Amino acid sequence: MLLGQGKEPTMTTETSIQQAIEAFRGAIRGIVITPEQAGYDDARAVHDFSHDRRPTAIVQPMTTEDVAEAVRFARSEGLPLAVKGGGHSLAGHSTAEAALVIDLTQMRAVTIDTEGARALVQGGATSADLAGPAAANGFALSTGDTATVGLGGLVTGGGIGWMARKQGLTIDHLRAVRMVTASGEVVRASANERPDLFWAVRGGGGNFGIVTEFEFDLPRVELVHGGVVMLPATREVVRGYLEYAPRATEELTTIAMIMAAPPAPFVPESLVGTLVLAVAVCVSDPAVAEEALAPIRALATPLVDFVGTMPYPGMFALTEVPAMRHGAAIRSVFADAIADETIDAMIAQMQRSSSPFNQVQLRGLGGAIARVEPGATAFSHRDARYLVAVIGMWLDPTDPGTPHRQWVQELWPAVAKDGRGVYANFLEDEGETRRRSAYSAEAYRRLQSVKQVYDPENVFRLNQNIAPVR
Ligand SMILES: Cc1cc2nc3c(=O)[nH]c(=O)nc-3n(C[C@H](O)[C@H](O)[C@H](O)COP(=O)(O)OP(=O)(O)OC[C@H]3O[C@@H](n4cnc5c(N)ncnc54)[C@H](O)[C@@H]3O)c2cc1C
Repeated sequence: MLLGQGKEPTMTTETSIQQAIEAFRGAIRGIVITPEQAGYDDARAVHDFSHDRRPTAIVQPMTTEDVAEAVRFARSEGLPLAVKGGGHSLAGHSTAEAALVIDLTQMRAVTIDTEGARALVQGGATSADLAGPAAANGFALSTGDTATVGLGGLVTGGGIGWMARKQGLTIDHLRAVRMVTASGEVVRASANERPDLFWAVRGGGGNFGIVTEFEFDLPRVELVHGGVVMLPATREVVRGYLEYAPRATEELTTIAMIMAAPPAPFVPESLVGTLVLAVAVCVSDPAVAEEALAPIRALATPLVDFVGTMPYPGMFALTEVPAMRHGAAIRSVFADAIADETIDAMIAQMQRSSSPFNQVQLRGLGGAIARVEPGATAFSHRDARYLVAVIGMWLDPTDPGTPHRQWVQELWPAVAKDGRGVYANFLEDEGETRRRSAYSAEAYRRLQSVKQVYDPENVFRLNQNIAPVR
């Protein structure tokens, strides 16, 4: 009998799984943490505290061979397999009840090749793990907006970061991966080696195996000009932002948030709690910053204008709140146009926000993202002008989150009607139609056939799952 398949464990199976875990412990360099051990609660925690689950065991591998051994162990014991990179999956896919979690937290090394402008990054590294050493050598790769987000999930889903309009998606700088496949084999994939797998892993998520090492090329970026411009949250200001953001110079990437002004040091006390459009900006060439930001500053007299030149990792200061463990509810969509009534609905819903941390997030896309051929990678929605996300967020772990989830659901139909397609990395567990809408019909079929080759038994299914098809 297999554990994790809904049957009652018997004494015999309990004993045999314990024996198997002991043997597995002895076979790897990394550690295996089980429920009776100190450290289990820390090890099973993921970023969103509402995904509070109790795996059978958590393995923290030290090497690619450990990862391969862990995959073979989970299969031989019939344990469902969850893979944890940075633990930020919005659906909580990096943990599961009665499963083996392969937690890559000990595999976060980053090696910078300054001459070759390349980085070798282990599969458990976060955005901050890469950004610091890269900046110290005069490079910056656009990954996500938050320091703690894992590159394991972010990159395999695409990666829409602070310099996305200049650099494209993170996958557009991925040159090769080392992976452990469902059979426990270690393989390399690049444009020349297993090109089908390399295509699929650039947008198809964790469906095809566990990436233990990414190889990126690194764009040279000395300093960026970044910060936040807060404007009154009116329909005209939001409309002005939407018109400018996707057609600004590619040096400028923005993330705008309709939100309550936070109690940050740079926000005057009298403004805290007021509804604003907070436009977080990142200009990858400080020399063009004034010109690039002028149209945003012209939308209305800024309530806050806190922008300056800094090394790229300084951008993460803007997302210190989401970098804390929290509970979140999210609905998101790509869009090409957003109607006035939708903007009005966003502002009205924000006026009755269930939490001070809720926001409607608007990202202007285009630029280098859209210049890559649509079929070149599995990520399908390169031509979208906007990414829109309705985000409910709470910081109190005892809050069950119900009012915030409901708050998101109330606004969602109005936002969804303007959209088409979704970013796989911004999905919760929302069902097959939504999951498929992350891809074009052609890309989805191709992903299914690559899945059939590399994971025909769907071992890697705790993810935005793409079922194998013959
Ligand atoms: C606060 C916050 C901010 C975010 N900001 C951005 C942003 O600016 N841009 C953006 O593009 N996305 C952003 N995201 C979304 C983010 O990209 C996804 O949540 C992503 O899946 C997180 O990756 P992770 O490794 O931290 O998550 P995990 O929960 O560890 O993993 C997520 C999925 O990826 C799989 N996976 C993890 N590691 C590997 C690996 N090494 N090999 C194969 N599969 C793996 C897991 O099995 C799981 O299915 C944000 C999310 C949060 C919570």
